[in-house]
Amino acid sequence: MLIIGGGTAGWMTAAALSNGLQGLELDIQLVESETIGTVGVGESTIPHIRYFNASLGIDESDFVRRTRATYKLAIEFRDWNRIGDRYMHPFGAFGTPGSEIGFHHHWTRVGGAHRAGPLDAFSLPIAMARRNRFAPPATDPSSPLSTYSYAYQFDAGLYARYLREYAETRGVTRTEGRIREIELQQESGFAEAVILDDGRRIAADFFIDCSGFRGLVIEQAMQAGYDDWSHWLPCDRAIALPSASTDEFPPYTRATALEAGWAWRIPLQHRVGNGHVYASAFMDDSRAEALLREQLEGEPLAQPNRLRFLAGKRRQQWVRNCVSIGLSSGFLEPLESTSIHLIQAAIGNLLDLFPTGAWDPADTAEFNRIMDVEYTRVRDFLILHYKATSRTDTEFWVYCRNMDIPDSLASKIELFRERGIVAAYEHGVFLEPSWVAVMIGQGILPERTDPRCLAYPDDRALAAMAGLRSDLAARAESMPRHTAVLDLDAAAAAAAV
Ligand SMILES: Cc1cc2nc3c(=O)[nH]c(=O)nc-3n(C[C@H](O)[C@H](O)[C@H](O)COP(=O)(O)OP(=O)(O)OC[C@H]3O[C@@H](n4cnc5c(N)ncnc54)[C@H](O)[C@@H]3O)c2cc1C
Repeated sequence: MLIIGGGTAGWMTAAALSNGLQGLELDIQLVESETIGTVGVGESTIPHIRYFNASLGIDESDFVRRTRATYKLAIEFRDWNRIGDRYMHPFGAFGTPGSEIGFHHHWTRVGGAHRAGPLDAFSLPIAMARRNRFAPPATDPSSPLSTYSYAYQFDAGLYARYLREYAETRGVTRTEGRIREIELQQESGFAEAVILDDGRRIAADFFIDCSGFRGLVIEQAMQAGYDDWSHWLPCDRAIALPSASTDEFPPYTRATALEAGWAWRIPLQHRVGNGHVYASAFMDDSRAEALLREQLEGEPLAQPNRLRFLAGKRRQQWVRNCVSIGLSSGFLEPLESTSIHLIQAAIGNLLDLFPTGAWDPADTAEFNRIMDVEYTRVRDFLILHYKATSRTDTEFWVYCRNMDIPDSLASKIELFRERGIVAAYEHGVFLEPSWVAVMIGQGILPERTDPRCLAYPDDRALAAMAGLRSDLAARAESMPRHTAVLDLDAAAAAAAV
């Protein structure tokens, strides 16, 4: 088996297969080219990454130290609905645990933000994030301290190096070299071997294409085709520019809407990752860079890294004996930090449907079906941020407000607007609290709520909410500072001596 590419996708795949298939004694090889390099971005994640690391038996504190990671409790969205607005999408539910009716129903019924205060005030991970506090959640599900989860913000290059070490220890062999050609069997069209620039030939029976945007095997050789979603997600460029750390290490990622896109800010232990994702039809590159520089809070640490992409996915992510994972399989902008999760989802599906010798089209079709659903769910969630805006200050936002959206998203918005209900999906990474946070954050308020709320008179509900709000604030306040958990306080004190 040959993995093509040694970016985050390549080494995550190599690590997971060398661990998950170790009983099969497979020959797993990986080829990558240092001259080509990796995409060099991808620092913010969602909580599922913890299960990936745990499945590999990775020790969390070792991982955090070696990838210079920080903890992440939420994403803060600034200026998305209106300039000046702020809301958070937390990794956790609103309200108290175990309640039958979603908290947002009660909150809406008593008058929402006007009477109860902002929805954000009823989330423990948001209370923690706003105070720069962090502690891992409790394991007892009846505890209010169990209502949240967390992810990481890390140096993706260090993570790939970490996983390379892991995979090589488990027998994965790496070849350095640039692939010049893919050999296909004439009749079947199956891939047979890759030829490197220096003439070396590496043959394999199964190819995992992790070659990044190029899609070396899946597109250039197998011509899988691409579903272009750029009419819904018009951002097609990014500039990334790391900067020096400031005194603050907030346990969350920030996404600030700008004139024709948005800027990310991701605090790591040793630097801050910044970038600007924008639509080239509405903004030129020099304006995009200028806006990004305005966002920086510390000295730039490198030259800008410019990237181009097209929102969408491969029409088929597995064709014959080639499966694509990572950027080679498609790309959805990092607004909700989902790319690494999609890598993880593809690896999980591949392990479940791993070829057993005979090539069964049913396996391939099932893999493609699941990945289609995963991509489509993320796509809809991202489009929601653009569509549900009140902004009319630039042509870009007017376009987004007025664009048609997929039926799957239109019906989901309608149901929420009418009844406050989040329609459940098959697969799909984001669950009810995530949709509630973004729908309400973007200004979509339910017109009617769950009738069972009527059992709670307004004054009783408002008093309970006031109590909950101060309880969450006090709990967050009593937690350790994020910097203390990361041992950065000690490091700063030592440096000051
Ligand atoms: C602007 C931007 C911001 C992002 N932010 C996030 C984020 O915050 N969170 C998140 O989850 N994801 C994010 N992503 C996505 C994330 O960066 C990728 O999903 C992840 O890095 C995986 O990339 P990859 O391994 O598929 O590709 P790459 O990193 O491009 O790796 C491709 C590999 O293939 C090799 N290769 C290519 N061609 C050849 C050849 N001819 N011969 C030999 N080797 C070859 C390269 O050398 C390299 O090793 C972001 C992406 C972009 C563009």
